[in-house]
Amino acid sequence: MARNGSKSVQAKLVLLGDMGTGKTSLVLRFVKGQFFDFQESTIGAAFFSQTISLNEATVKFDIWDTAGQERYHSLAPMYYRGAAAAVVVYDITSMDSFLRAQKWVQELQRQGNPTLFMVLVANKVDLASKRKVEEKDGETYARENGLLYMETSAKTAQNVNELFYEIAKHLAKTS
Ligand code: GDP
Ligand code: MG
Repeated sequence: MARNGSKSVQAKLVLLGDMGTGKTSLVLRFVKGQFFDFQESTIGAAFFSQTISLNEATVKFDIWDTAGQERYHSLAPMYYRGAAAAVVVYDITSMDSFLRAQKWVQELQRQGNPTLFMVLVANKVDLASKRKVEEKDGETYARENGLLYMETSAKTAQNVNELFYEIAKHLAKTS
């Protein structure tokens, strides 16, 4: 709960990125602390709520995960409408997924929401020996396009809570 005098923020957070990059796994890791090696794209609700308590605010996330629509490389505008934050995910073992992530970023930028906070997430960093997208390439793209960049592993939990905390901190500051 928010402490006396601290503010309460409710924020819609959407996940974008190619199928198989680990969007659902990141959400399940964050919300339930679980990971499945065979995560099925149709399993589970496409909507999750999770609250983060900071000193300065309580941030309640309404998280929208796709129910497999991303395989068609298009998502209904209602999916992003009203979003405060967008997490664009790629898989470091797939150059295609990195290029596709850039398409999702462009699509978000076309929506013309200047306050949307965007994070570029390089997931599956536990698979370092199969890495195809270098850290500096992800970082450079993010910097040039005004996105926060984070490297995560839903499998080992590396940087997953940090990802959502960074977003919460930003939203607490700006709302
Ligand atoms: P989505 O289609 O983007 O929602 O991706 P999923 O969350 O369904 O994950 C696709 C596959 O990648 C599943 O087999 C997951 O177990 C696996 N996966 C997800 N995140 C990671 C990760 O950080 N490391 C590894 N090694 N595998 C992952
Ligand atoms: Mg999924």
